[in-house]
Amino acid sequence: MTETRTAIVTGAARGIGAATAKRLADDGMQVAVLDLDEAAAQPVVDEIIAAGGRALAVGADVADSDSVKAAVERVAAELGAPTVIVNNAGIIRDNLLFKMSVDEWDLVMAVHLRGAFNTVKHAQQYMVEAKFGRVINLSSTSAQGNRGQANYAAAKAGLQGYTKTLAIELGKFGITANAVAPGFTVTEMIQETADRIGVSLEDFKAHAAKEIAVARVGYPEDIANAISFFADEKSGYVSGQVLYVAGGPKD
Ligand code: NAD
Repeated sequence: MTETRTAIVTGAARGIGAATAKRLADDGMQVAVLDLDEAAAQPVVDEIIAAGGRALAVGADVADSDSVKAAVERVAAELGAPTVIVNNAGIIRDNLLFKMSVDEWDLVMAVHLRGAFNTVKHAQQYMVEAKFGRVINLSSTSAQGNRGQANYAAAKAGLQGYTKTLAIELGKFGITANAVAPGFTVTEMIQETADRIGVSLEDFKAHAAKEIAVARVGYPEDIANAISFFADEKSGYVSGQVLYVAGGPKD
């Protein structure tokens, strides 16, 4: 029997993160459901526990190194050594470049890039000690460029370079690093975009589906399924990859 692994999923109070936390728990892992507000993460924990799993709600800001350090230490003490890290926390601050503020640029970089740096930096010692680790970073099809998303596209492309570098540096410790790059996935982030451009969610989904090869939009469980593959004990020879989960070819 393989060891019970402990995962940290950031931004897991809702959307793709919540679906991933539940999926990894179904896969047999103990899961830290990390989000800005601990109380907001608790319902996901309750669902996992009700289904027979083990989970812990943790409040932390991934952009803040001290906050992440404390969170990682708490997970290690209360749940188990964290060796599966899913860097999912994300935000959008969309604007055309000429209107984009420095704050909008910096905030997106801080959550996606510094956030993914902070978690691995603080969890690294546990993975090295276990001679096992799985890092999965959430990129996006926007990494290839998307109007109104100079900040987000740069961060998501940056995460791909970060992923490949982690794979190279940490591979010899039994740690893999991969990225999942979702296309249109129905979550509150998509609702925010629909609100910003002034269309209903239903119209936005229908319009998006027309451009997608499988003729439908994605759902959080579609993305969680790919993350589950990379997190699997048996996926140890797959590292430094970017998997587009977008209902069609995207790169
Ligand atoms: P979402 O907005 O529904 O959820 C994001 C979660 O991250 C929220 O619970 C939020 O509170 C949390 N979060 C934000 N900032 C944080 C911080 N500083 N510290 C801790 N938690 C923080 O988003 P989603 O659609 O589920 O997206 C999840 C990930 O997938 C993001 O990285 C996003 O960029 C990426 N993604 C989403 C889509 C999509 O179509 N939905 C497509 C491509 C990539």
